[in-house]
This record gives sequence, C-alpha cells and structure tokens, in this order.
Amino acid sequence: MALQVELIPTGEIIRVVHPHRPCKLALGSDGVRVTMESALTARDRVGVQDFVLLENFTSEAAFIENLRRRFRENLIYTYIGPVLVSVNPYRDLQIYSRQHMERYRGVSFYEVPPHLFAVADTVYRALRTERRDQAVMISGESGAGKTEATKRLLQFYAETCPAPERGGAVRDRLLQSNPVLEAFGNAKTLRNDNSSRFGKYMDVQFDFKGAPVGGHILSYLLEKSRVVHQNHGERNFHVFYQLLEGGEEELLRRLGLERNPQSYLYLVKGQCAKVSSINDKSDWKVVRKALTVIDFTEDEVEDLLSIVASVLHLGNIHFAADEESNAQVTTENQLKYLTRLLGVEGSTLREALTHRKIIAKGEELLSPLNLEQAAYARDALAKAVYSRTFTWLVRKINRSLASKDAESPSWRSTTVLGLLDIYGFEVFQHNSFEQFCINYCNEKLQQLFIELTLKSEQEEYEAEGIAWEPVQYFNNKIICDLVEEKFKGIISILDEECLRPGEATDLTFLEKLEDTVKHHPHFLTHKLADQRTRKSLGRGEFRLLHYAGEVTYSVTGFLDKNNDLLFRNLKETMCSSENPIMSQCFDRSELSDKKRPETVATQFKMSLLQLVEILQSKEPAYVRCIKPNDAKQPGRFDEVLIRHQVKYLGLMENLRVRRAGFAYRRKYEAFLQRYKSLCPETWPTWAGRPQDGVAVLVRHLGYKPEEYKMGRTKIFIRFPKTLFATEDALEV
Ligand code: ATP
Ligand code: MG
Repeated sequence: MALQVELIPTGEIIRVVHPHRPCKLALGSDGVRVTMESALTARDRVGVQDFVLLENFTSEAAFIENLRRRFRENLIYTYIGPVLVSVNPYRDLQIYSRQHMERYRGVSFYEVPPHLFAVADTVYRALRTERRDQAVMISGESGAGKTEATKRLLQFYAETCPAPERGGAVRDRLLQSNPVLEAFGNAKTLRNDNSSRFGKYMDVQFDFKGAPVGGHILSYLLEKSRVVHQNHGERNFHVFYQLLEGGEEELLRRLGLERNPQSYLYLVKGQCAKVSSINDKSDWKVVRKALTVIDFTEDEVEDLLSIVASVLHLGNIHFAADEESNAQVTTENQLKYLTRLLGVEGSTLREALTHRKIIAKGEELLSPLNLEQAAYARDALAKAVYSRTFTWLVRKINRSLASKDAESPSWRSTTVLGLLDIYGFEVFQHNSFEQFCINYCNEKLQQLFIELTLKSEQEEYEAEGIAWEPVQYFNNKIICDLVEEKFKGIISILDEECLRPGEATDLTFLEKLEDTVKHHPHFLTHKLADQRTRKSLGRGEFRLLHYAGEVTYSVTGFLDKNNDLLFRNLKETMCSSENPIMSQCFDRSELSDKKRPETVATQFKMSLLQLVEILQSKEPAYVRCIKPNDAKQPGRFDEVLIRHQVKYLGLMENLRVRRAGFAYRRKYEAFLQRYKSLCPETWPTWAGRPQDGVAVLVRHLGYKPEEYKMGRTKIFIRFPKTLFATEDALEV
C-alpha cells in the first residue's frame, strides 16, 4: 500500500500518513526509527477515535470538530463507546475488501481503528459465544448511508461465515433479495439517487456452527404516493425504468409497452427519467437474475411484470366528461391491455373506474364519478396494486429465505442477527402524514435506545461490581404516549375522525386534537400558542416538540392518507383477477362490511410495537449515519447540515449518557499489555494476576483514587486526560 509522506518539521519527527495506522519516522544519529503512532496520540491531527475521549464532551462544537478532522483524513468512522458514527464519504474508499474483513475478524473492538466491520465482527462473535440474538440498528437521514452499511454488513457475513452444511444457496438468496427489493422499493429522489422508500428489518438466522441458514424480512410503510406522483427532479420506483430500458423486445411487446419512459404519465412528472449515476439497463439484468436466484419461476416473473406494466397502463387511462359530467374512459387501447394483463373483465374494469358502488339497506347502487373522482379512483387503484404487490414480493422472498432445515435439530439452536435499515427523523419545509409516522417511529426507537443503553451500562457496572451512578436523561415516553395512547393519543383521535365520512375533515381533526390534548407540553397549534409563537404556526398545522426538536405538521391530507380508501367495486374487480399475484393480494374477505380495515396509522403503530418487541429481545448495536453535504459530493463537510443531524440523531445525549460514569474501560489484560513498559515492576512481564499488575502499574503512574475504579475484569478510567497522560508517557 502506498504511504503518503508528509514532512512536518516538528523537531526531528516526520509524519507518515497511512490511511489507518499513522506512523512516525524519528531521525536519530543511529539511523531511522519507525514507530507506529497510536491512534490515541495522533489525536491532534485525526481527532479521537471515540467521542468519549473528548475532553469537553458536552460541547457540540468539539464534537463536530472531531468529526471534521477525521473526515478530512478519510476516517469516516468514530465511536461513541459501542455506537458507531459513520459519515458518508461519497467516494469509494476501498475499505470493504476481503483483506479488510480479515483484518477485523477476531480482534478486540478497540484495538483497531473504528470500522463497520469491527461492529460486524463483534456482533457475530457475541452471537456465537453468548448465543444471544443480536440486532444492528442503522439510522440516519436520507442519503446518509444506511442501505450501503446494511449491504456491507450482509456481505461481511456472506463472505466470512462458514457455509452451512445444507442449503448453501441461502447466502446467495440473502444477497440477491436486495436488488429485487431495491428495484421495487427504491427510487431516485433529490436527496439520494437510490433512496429506500420503505423501512426494512431483516433477520439472518445462523445455525449452531455460525453458518447463515435462513432469513426473514419485515417492511414498513412503502411510500406508495410515488407510484402516481413524483416531485420535480425525482423518479418513480426503479423497476419501471429498468423494465423499459432492459426488457427484451418480445417481453415489452407482450406487455404492450413502449421503450420510452416519456410515454407514461406516471413516469414523466419528475422530468428526469435518465439519471447519470444509474444504469437501468445493467440493473435490469441484475434484477432479472436475482429473481431466479430467489426462486421465481418464469410464470411468476411474467405475472409480476404484467402488474408492473399494468400500473403504467393505468396511468395512461384518460377520462372525458359526457353531457352529464360523468367520466367516461377514452383510452380503449390501455383498457384492453389492462384487461389482459390483470386478467379481469373489460366491462367490469371500465365500470369500476367510472362508478362507485354503494350498498344502502342491502341494495347495491352505482353512482357515476365525475372527472376528478375517476382520476382519484384510478390513482388509488394504481397505488393499491403496486403497494400490495410489494408486500407480496416481501412474502415471496421470505418463503425463499426460510430455512430449509426447519425440522432439523440444528434449526432449534439457531440464533438471529437482525439488521434494521429505517428512515431517520424527517424535518422538511412542509411536513405531512408521512413525516408524522416516520418521526413517531424515531421516537419509539429513541426510547428503546435509551432504555437499552442505560440497561447495558447498568449491567456492566453491576457485573464489574462498581456502584451505579444514576444518569439524568430525557425520557421521551411522554411524546410516544401523546402519539399512541388509546383514546387520547393523536392516532386514536385521527382514527375516530376517519370513522365519520362525509362529516369529518382535516380541520375537524385538528379541532378535536386541540380539545383533547390542549395542555400537553409537547403539543401546540395556532390557537393554543401564545402571541409570539403564533406567527410561526399556520391555522391548519400542529407542532410536536420531539425529543430532537420541534416539527410542524400540516393536517392537509391526514384523513385521506390514514383512510387509504379504495372504492368497493375496484376491490371486487381485483378480487376477480386471474393474475395469480393479484388474486393473492386482493382477498374477498375484505369485501365483507363487518370487517373495517385498520387505518394506515394504526397498522403502522402495531407494526412498530411488534418491531420494538423484536428488538427488545436482542442485544443491540448501533450505526448512526451522517450525510456530509446535500450535493452528494466527496470531501465536502457542511457544518450546518451536520450539526442538524448530530442533534436529530441524539448523539450529544448519547455521549452524555455514555460519559456519565467513565470515559474509558478496558480489560486488565489488554491494559497491562499496552502500558506495562511504564513500570519497572510490570516490565517485561508480570507473573501474577493481571488485575494486581494493573493495580501496581497505576499506583506507579500516580493515578488518584477519584480518577479510576477497579472492576472484576476491567479498569474504569473516569477522565480522558488520565488516559492521555499515560499514553503520552509511552512516547517518551
Ligand atoms: P435513504 O434513507 O434515502 O434510503 P440511505 O441512508 O439508505 O438513504 P444510501 O443509499 O445507503 O443512503 O447511500 C446513498 C449513497 O451514498 C450511495 O448510493 C453511495 O453512493 C453513497 N455512500 C453511502 N455510504 C457509502 C460508503 N460507506 N462509501 C462510499 N459511498 C457511500
Ligand atoms: Mg436506504
């Protein structure tokens, strides 16, 4: 590896910059001595590799300065204790090779520079040795690098874990499920050319030998509005463009598709079908191959693509008004293709797109739709078809990932490693129902994080026999309750309004909120605000004081999005579909009047409760991702943007909790090994117990009693300066 030599006239020392291991060349009269500079002593230049070692740990400025120094040196990873903070480099740093994987295998977390693979390996070893389920939770805002991190972790396990005795294909399936899910669930947005538009939790199951034998995926809240509308500069889901660019002539002909994305109304809204960083044609090949790996038959592929094509045809369905202002379908050709691809009756579909069926007193009434209503019904159908297909796809992938050894004894002893790649806090100019759900999700995860972090700190203190010193922290349960409590919570009130069709509006929902939660310290509206704050709040808005800061939500569309209605006759039509995937997606039981479907917010709430339960049962690890700039450019460190993320990721609070007790803790063996040369009694070897050796060593170094504590297996050092002084002593 090439070393970059930087001549800095600091006495006789020349610094040699190695990407991960800074070295020193000392020019002495006896020649040149090369010594590895420890990461701790290189702190002036490359910052500290663990934020707990920051002298001024409550200072946000010091925190950001440390990130900046490291980022400048291409050191994108830094710890807060066991939490890994990662800054997206927007360039290939060549740090994920097989050699890098090997370098991090089996080594102690703190003895090597921070890296995602250090987390990967630590988690895997805990899984193997303690046989406890693990979960890596990856968070951060759009474009921060969550999905990349998830993929690197999966790759690490796929490449370094032993192969299972049977069903070796599961490794390929685990890896290949990704391009398929990304094709259907990712899209180019202004923030990220490959933005995941759904939350994902993936379990990887390992047998007792540590080989991956199966997996399972849970998905959350696909952004289905994107199917029918994209903002300027954004695209629909990748799969549409991939199919048009990459699909063979014959396939496109069967699907009735033209190659040009401009021909489809659902693809032209963002006006950017082509993106320089994306090669739809080659991505299509990858996806097509991946579908085969995850057990799709040729027929299933055809059924799936028929649905993708149907969505495009649906978008091109036009209506014209007749003399009575009722909508009539004018695009016969599209209707013909739809009928064939979805396997439905043409006349039924035509009627369903232009009429609404109402059942009153046991009688069916058909009421014609006007132009606006028909367009709404068409778009609702496209969204439902696409999002249900996505859910089906996840189920299908899960069948393919399910351990084929479910009945064998090794199955019973499997352990699970979970990977959570989920949207971070979203605060935009305009925040709506989607941001409300996403931010609620972040509140829940923050609550879990605090609970688990404090618990593990406390457990370690107990295990080490050190008195626990309570930590003051903000418990955000009060905000979670405000959102999710039965009867009084925001979701309950929203659901209640959704039960009053025709009467309730977004504004009556807001009024009800004001009546019910008016005295809540984390809730505010224009009416409830004082004179000063009122100016910043519109009449159709409410503001939540989240743990990470305030967010103002506009109530416009809340009822509609929460209800997520699909007219009855459209559902009936889809239930009759002969496309096997569609008929699995639309079930006749939905048509029964007795069964009111759960609202979107309630479904989301329940899936989050389930997620929290899953995560609670596992040993957690955290990766916090930060996006350095909005331009997707390497080397640019936008301080304002980063400060914002440090706040919304709760990193300062995280550091405070972690630093409440001791800045540094290390096993006696490791500590003694590193510093034994500083004391004549421990050098070159100490024959007794490592703990006693450390006691002799720190006494010799003059540690004061308030500076450290001796636990059962580790020494705990309260302040970084004590450690730095010891570290500096090594240099002399
Ligand atoms: P979203 O919430 O929108 O899905 P995300 O956090 O999942 O965003 P990614 O898709 O993982 O973001 O990353 C965005 C882009 O940043 C990637 O496509 C890649 O170009 C770049 N990137 C992310 N992480 C790294 C990394 N470790 N090294 C190099 N480039 C990276
Ligand atoms: Mg992503």
